[in-house]
Amino acid sequence: MLRKPFVLPALAAAFVLILAGCAPFGGGAESGAAGDLKVVATTTQVGDFTRRVVGDTAGVSVTQLIQPNQSAHSYDPSVADLTALGEADVLVINGVGLEEWLTDAISASGFDGATISADTGIDILEGGNPHIWTDVSNAEAMTRTIAAGLSDAQPNLAADFEANAAAYSGKLAELADWITSNVDAVPADQRLLVSNHDAFSYFTAAYDITYVGSIIPSFDDNAEPSAAKIDKLVADIKATGVKAVFSEASISPKAADTIAREAGVAVYSGQDALYSDSLGAKGSDGATYIGAQVHNVTLILESWGATPTAVPADLR
Ligand SMILES: [Zn+2]
Repeated sequence: MLRKPFVLPALAAAFVLILAGCAPFGGGAESGAAGDLKVVATTTQVGDFTRRVVGDTAGVSVTQLIQPNQSAHSYDPSVADLTALGEADVLVINGVGLEEWLTDAISASGFDGATISADTGIDILEGGNPHIWTDVSNAEAMTRTIAAGLSDAQPNLAADFEANAAAYSGKLAELADWITSNVDAVPADQRLLVSNHDAFSYFTAAYDITYVGSIIPSFDDNAEPSAAKIDKLVADIKATGVKAVFSEASISPKAADTIAREAGVAVYSGQDALYSDSLGAKGSDGATYIGAQVHNVTLILESWGATPTAVPADLR
């Protein structure tokens, strides 16, 4: 059933013992004081959206499982993660199969609360590409879905959740306007992007950018590019006039370096890598979803030789 060395069975066994010792009802919605809502979010992005929706509402805790610069596709939950999940009332997930590890984690933790799948109502691109948040309008829809789900879970706090979601949606709309106006100022045939793995298809579709290709030709950041795929991408980069190749903050820059060298173009990595599957660490440009988008778009514009307009003050 498990396809690779995986710590979950051992963790699960340990967890059951912990649970047996201290939580006779098996965790879930019945735990905690009245009015207490324990929310667990999987990815850094849905974690950020959930915290925006909750704001400073009293009696709601948000625990985010995936930490900055970790893969969202393959993730090994810790004992602490499973404990938090087992005690949660609500689980917020990205969905579209991004969290490949989730089914095992849910069964190991005994989670029996409500799940909010943030992909609800979003048009999924061909092949089931899970990187929906890269289009800001999808991020807004995800925020609304999270607010509706939390309101269902705790109806007496619905007004707070909806007000916070509306305020954040306003910022996201401003962000989308900033991206669109800046990208539109660049001639369409120069709006080209090559990134590490296939994480930006929603982004490029939303802002009319041509996605020339990804170094790892897969949604999964663990896959390896074949020599033939590398040759094809190098040829495509030369043929289309791509000026730079982007690495992603949560992925090794090695393959991006190789391809950029072979194609004779610049590579953006390290501090200048794009935030894709993970937001950045606290204090970095990409610590929030809005900050990560501003970082990515600024660097992409620079790679095209364009100078971005000032970022609206309330997005900084
Ligand atoms: Zn990915």
